[in-house]
Amino acid sequence: MYVLVMNTGSSSLKYQLLDSESLAIVDKGLCEKVGSPDSFYSHGLGDAARTDTLPLFDHLAAVRAVLENLLDPSSVALANLEEIIAVGHRVVHGGEAFVKSVVIDEDVIAKIKECVPLAPLHNPAALTGIEACQTLIPAALQVAVFDTAFHQTIPPRAFRYALPDTLYTQHRIRKYGFHGTSHRYVAARAAEILERPLEDLRIITCHLGNGCSLTAVDRGHSVDTSMGFTPLDGVVMGTRCGSIDPAIVVYLITELGMSAEEVDRLMNRESGLLGLTGISNDIRDVHTAVADSDERAELALEIYANAIRRYIGQYAFSMGGVDAIVMTAGVGENDSILRQMVLSGLEGFGIVLDERRNALRGADRVISTDDSSVTLLVIPTNEELLIAKDALALWAARG
Ligand code: ADP
Repeated sequence: MYVLVMNTGSSSLKYQLLDSESLAIVDKGLCEKVGSPDSFYSHGLGDAARTDTLPLFDHLAAVRAVLENLLDPSSVALANLEEIIAVGHRVVHGGEAFVKSVVIDEDVIAKIKECVPLAPLHNPAALTGIEACQTLIPAALQVAVFDTAFHQTIPPRAFRYALPDTLYTQHRIRKYGFHGTSHRYVAARAAEILERPLEDLRIITCHLGNGCSLTAVDRGHSVDTSMGFTPLDGVVMGTRCGSIDPAIVVYLITELGMSAEEVDRLMNRESGLLGLTGISNDIRDVHTAVADSDERAELALEIYANAIRRYIGQYAFSMGGVDAIVMTAGVGENDSILRQMVLSGLEGFGIVLDERRNALRGADRVISTDDSSVTLLVIPTNEELLIAKDALALWAARG
């Protein structure tokens, strides 16, 4: 038996098929440029990986192509689609309606639709993925796993903005937070590695990828996170500016004559590391530029690291202390220089980075010294695994 994990973007579809017993990955793939004539589908593991160019006019066609590949005797070779007992769908925005993963029914679909204004690109894409799977794999239990759900434990003092009350009560303008599945996964994994109950630990999780967010996980619950009403808020990211004085938006419009769309593009796509360096949103390119003595690149890294340190300090104080700090996602998992910029010089707070351990590569690992009171960890995130586990747990609970 198998569980399928689906992550549907506006023009893409990423999936993993896992064995429901061992949770081993049996197949994974990515359909890109869905809806355009030059769409393609990459799939398979290791040496068997290949890319097929084929027209995928919509997400239904993409899901159909994936299922054909799963049934193909020369590929994954499932006997039939009934072998897929559950499908876990990543849904970006669950608003205030969802505090955990749920079995999808008509009411859930209606609530995901209600959240479309909050995630206008992502939620409609997830809905198309769900609809396609309901049509093509009707026997499987369909489960929704929300990026926002983990953050629904954040108390009002942290999720409300100091704006007029009606903007929250009538328009639901509040902090929602994102990357919840990743923060939940690495926090739980940190507790396993430390061999201590999650309920005893105060953890700061740093998801540093293209998008970046930090979360304060107090005894298993998210109590604050750096992304806000949208993923634009918080730390500096690849192309997003993170927190800025909101009056800058007004200034850009009134003094520089920019339109709302231009400001949106500027802050979401043209800022962050890319905007600061004028070179790239990819931190590897920024390091290359630093090696060539590019001063803008040097400053960009300092601004990026400083923003992360600021949030770590804030969350350690708001939780009354911190037992572990976890680094994850593309930058957090791979970039030892950046980790050093963020985590060194904090010995006064009991945070002692071990430079030798930090420089090593590998899977889950501790990078603090043995006498550091705060344990520093690098843990590769695995959102798909958690989505699969949630889907299987709901399948098992269904009886
Ligand atoms: P996404 O948020 O799109 O899932 P990832 O978690 O894959 O992103 O992170 C992507 C970013 O991680 C890249 O833009 C790059 O800056 C960084 N990254 C990836 N691999 C490495 C590496 N080996 N060394 C340093 N940085 C890396």
